[in-house]
Amino acid sequence: MIDKVDPARCVGCELCVKVCPVDVLRMQADDNGKLKAVIVYREECQSCFLCELYCPTDAIYVGPDRSPLHAVWMPEFAISFSKLI
Ligand code: SF4
Ligand code: SF4
Repeated sequence: MIDKVDPARCVGCELCVKVCPVDVLRMQADDNGKLKAVIVYREECQSCFLCELYCPTDAIYVGPDRSPLHAVWMPEFAISFSKLI
């Protein structure tokens, strides 16, 4: 899930907003009138890492996958793995 956008690094290019498939981010003017990316719908994040990959200034950090899908996948992996040994 997306963790943070560093406003000090953000140059307002809007790439993250354009590539996010589920509309998590928006552009918002800071106190100096400069556009910065902000997280508005964090819970919608699909952990696809596109925003982090496309950001030219390394301003975005997407954390490790903490979605329920991961929890479902892990037991299956454990079962498959146990059959191998
Ligand atoms: S990780 Fe993917 S879904 Fe999440 S905010 Fe970035 S682009 Fe959007
Ligand atoms: S891609 Fe990076 S620099 Fe561009 S608006 Fe998003 S956070 Fe800011």
